[in-house]
Amino acid sequence: MAALACVTALTFTVSTSAGTGRLAPGASTAGAGPIALSHTSAHGPCMIRGAREVQMSEGIPTSTGYTRSTGTVRALTLMIDFSDAPGEGDARDRFREFFPQTREWFRTSSYGRLDYRPETPIPSWLRMPKSFREYGIERGAPFEPGYRALVQDLVAAADPKVDFRAYDLLNVLVTPNAGLSALDTVLSVTFAGNPEAPRADGIPVANASFVYSRQDDGSGSYDRTGYRVLPHENGHVFGLPDLYTADGGGAVGHWDIMSEDWGANNDFLGWHKWKLGWLDAAQVHCAASTGTTEYTLTPLPLAGGSKLVFLPLDGRTGYAVELRTRAGNDEAVCRPGVLIYKVDAEVDTGMGPVTVYDSRRDSGGCTRAPNVHAELSDAPFTPGETFRDAGRGITIEVAGVGTGAAGAGAGVEGGYRVRVTRE
Ligand SMILES: [Zn+2]
Repeated sequence: MAALACVTALTFTVSTSAGTGRLAPGASTAGAGPIALSHTSAHGPCMIRGAREVQMSEGIPTSTGYTRSTGTVRALTLMIDFSDAPGEGDARDRFREFFPQTREWFRTSSYGRLDYRPETPIPSWLRMPKSFREYGIERGAPFEPGYRALVQDLVAAADPKVDFRAYDLLNVLVTPNAGLSALDTVLSVTFAGNPEAPRADGIPVANASFVYSRQDDGSGSYDRTGYRVLPHENGHVFGLPDLYTADGGGAVGHWDIMSEDWGANNDFLGWHKWKLGWLDAAQVHCAASTGTTEYTLTPLPLAGGSKLVFLPLDGRTGYAVELRTRAGNDEAVCRPGVLIYKVDAEVDTGMGPVTVYDSRRDSGGCTRAPNVHAELSDAPFTPGETFRDAGRGITIEVAGVGTGAAGAGAGVEGGYRVRVTRE
């Protein structure tokens, strides 16, 4: 049963995204604002951009039109049902499948920089005027025409009690009996940075996440982990692309919730944390020049210290280096160490914009946790190991453990020293 569930989830894992364009420069929308990226002129070479427009890019800074990812963010959360899928029980129980867990997840991942406040001005099921079948919702369904009709109808139904201008993003928690089980097809979807969305109280509903069914893999962990589809979907409203591809989670594994959002908890990559404004400029080192430099990285899930070294390769790609340990939101790490991955700002969402390098290829990995891509679970480099890109004259050597804070002793908690050489 566990093996079957794992295969199923890898095939249908996580949800689709469907940004449908973004606001023109200077335009504004509900809760949109500059993402508070912290950087200095020294970071310039690391602020990679795609040469051509992609729907959702790993480029820095994130395009405008998405929801701000720092400070207080108010998440309007509506629970909806249909005549052919009437909500069962108290709508607030549906809300409680995701909160306060999602709020806590963002607080932990952001080191307290994102104060995510879910609000339910309508604490009961909001009945849509058409049946679920009539909206034609299916996996990969575009915004037109089904989702446009659904958003128009839910705005009309909620408007008497809701001032949409008071919120930064919309969560639509659909009654779980609408549509197929998530084991059969994942319907959950986000429309992000969508200026063409229907308007409510004068502003477009530009950043909206829809969650269907329950991501219950049968492994018994649903009560603890089932909410994680929502931080994934909300990652899109903050401008992050999908890191899984048509082949599943093999590009990034369990190293980011935009790659795998079933099973054990996982954090964002350091690159995403910088992109979201959760790292200070001093925590991000842009290794653009030639020579050898040593950095001491501290565990990414824990606040404080250096978190990310980035080696730009050209204007659109680079290598990212960070230290991952089992802490914070990272509960499935079975081999702590230095994770190295390539970021490409020109590759679109779902097409593999990030690729993790496996320090132990074809090892089978070190985890058997359900819904965790096993092969990449032992990807991190450990002291004494070196990543080489001979063609570009780059070596990244894990030189040893850091000196650590007083009392931390020698161990991964004290950080790892990483020696970067560019010829
Ligand atoms: Zn997604």
